[in-house]
Amino acid sequence: MSEFEPGQPTLVAKTTVPVLRILGRNPGPMTGPGTNSYLIGHERLCLLDPGPVNDAQLDSFLEAIGNARLEYILVTHTHGDHSPGAIPLQKATGAELVGIPAPDAEGQDKSFSPDRLWQHDDILDCGEYSIQLVHTPGHVSNHVCYLLEQEKLLFTGDHVLQGTTSVILPPDGDMSDYLDSLRYLQSLDLTFFAPGHGDVMDQPEKELKNLVAHRLRREQKVINCLTKLGSSGIDSLVLSVYDDVAQHLIPWAKRTLLAHLIKLEREGRVVSENELYMLTQEE
Ligand SMILES: [Zn+2]
Repeated sequence: MSEFEPGQPTLVAKTTVPVLRILGRNPGPMTGPGTNSYLIGHERLCLLDPGPVNDAQLDSFLEAIGNARLEYILVTHTHGDHSPGAIPLQKATGAELVGIPAPDAEGQDKSFSPDRLWQHDDILDCGEYSIQLVHTPGHVSNHVCYLLEQEKLLFTGDHVLQGTTSVILPPDGDMSDYLDSLRYLQSLDLTFFAPGHGDVMDQPEKELKNLVAHRLRREQKVINCLTKLGSSGIDSLVLSVYDDVAQHLIPWAKRTLLAHLIKLEREGRVVSENELYMLTQEE
């Protein structure tokens, strides 16, 4: 494990293209130690996920950038703990914004407004290295992971986290999309995950396999609980399906449970009536 000291640039792995993590000053129940910002490259730099607006953190970024040139500010998605710091950093450096603008959903940073329309598979050429955009909807619809091609290192934002699992936030977030995005990552050749929160992971294949299995196990638990309970409202269902989750996380678990139920309804395995969910006859 490497050090987690807010504002202190720390190399995340033994890579040829340097990747520094600069931990945000925003620890909390939903952010863990804080948001990870990453500074990539020697001369032509990219900074990924500047986090919330914070003057001290902006100073840390500028100090770490030094005399090098910041070309791009990459944003994985537009939650308040990932993107708002992009605007002051852009003002200070003139770097170009990369990412997909906020969808029309709650808790989104509408200030993030890139000049270009960025898309899946777009490539940023920074000379010594290149970065590919990998659209990974699920947690939210505009989520993008970024692949540092030379190192096979994927910046995963909130799509894959270390030590915890992502909340899926419907209706913008979507469990089917999330699983599809995980399966898409399984088709890539990857060496490292650098997540939005937590430490670098060096067994991406295993992480992905576990994550898919975890979600499918949870889905099966939804089915099992509905079999046992008959028709059930989400408030009581969440306590059975997420009986392994700490009390303070139950409101978030409820969001992800809703994402599971929407997926199951779409697949014709669950029906809902007057906010009560039940299995279809065939299940
Ligand atoms: Zn998020």
